[in-house]
Amino acid sequence: MRRIQKACLQRFEQLAQRFGARRPEQAVALWMQKAREISENHGVPLAEALVWVDARLQGKWRRFRWRRQGRPPSAASGRALFCDAGLGGLARWLWAAGQPAVWCRDADDSQLVRRALQAGAVLLTTDSLLLERRVVRSGRLPTVWVPPTLRVTEQLALVFDQLGLQLLPPRCMRCGGRLCPVEKAAVADRIPPRTARWLEEFFLCQSCGGLFWKGTHWQRILSRLRALGLPGAPG
Ligand SMILES: [Zn+2]
Repeated sequence: MRRIQKACLQRFEQLAQRFGARRPEQAVALWMQKAREISENHGVPLAEALVWVDARLQGKWRRFRWRRQGRPPSAASGRALFCDAGLGGLARWLWAAGQPAVWCRDADDSQLVRRALQAGAVLLTTDSLLLERRVVRSGRLPTVWVPPTLRVTEQLALVFDQLGLQLLPPRCMRCGGRLCPVEKAAVADRIPPRTARWLEEFFLCQSCGGLFWKGTHWQRILSRLRALGLPGAPG
């Protein structure tokens, strides 16, 4: 995990300069100390705590910059987010947050890299070894390392912070397809009678044909997304 610690240290030094810290080395020492505390208090490896602190700081920097210059479109926005086999839970939350995520459940690392490059996607991986690949180090394949031991909502917040994403109207929670409104009458035979009595808005997934409505499950997911304080407005 040394390489992650080294990478985070470099990013901290860069951030201290960007923030215009009067004593950059003190700021870096403080952030390193914070990561050590998180690591000890929550029993997570130091590398993971460092990535977590780094993601929060990067998010802070972005908000600081946006206040001064206005919000630029994120380079990652609209690009597919390829999730490795271990990130199925994250992929579903990304769909709920309106992101075009693809869960590559059967791909090994090499296939994943190849497919992500072909699709012009951003790669989300739990495998820190993958960060060593030249294509990742050179920045040709934008990649976010997601610590597998983080809770899934923490993983989501980290990806949003690192890529500067915004909440968008939810996608299909089964396959990530786009949801389009559909006339209630056209799908009447598929709506459970109790739901039909109190809801008028229904949506069809353009990929798998699944039927969705803003019931209690949908509301619960949206309120958890709002509670994370992510930017943008969920549907
Ligand atoms: Zn679907």
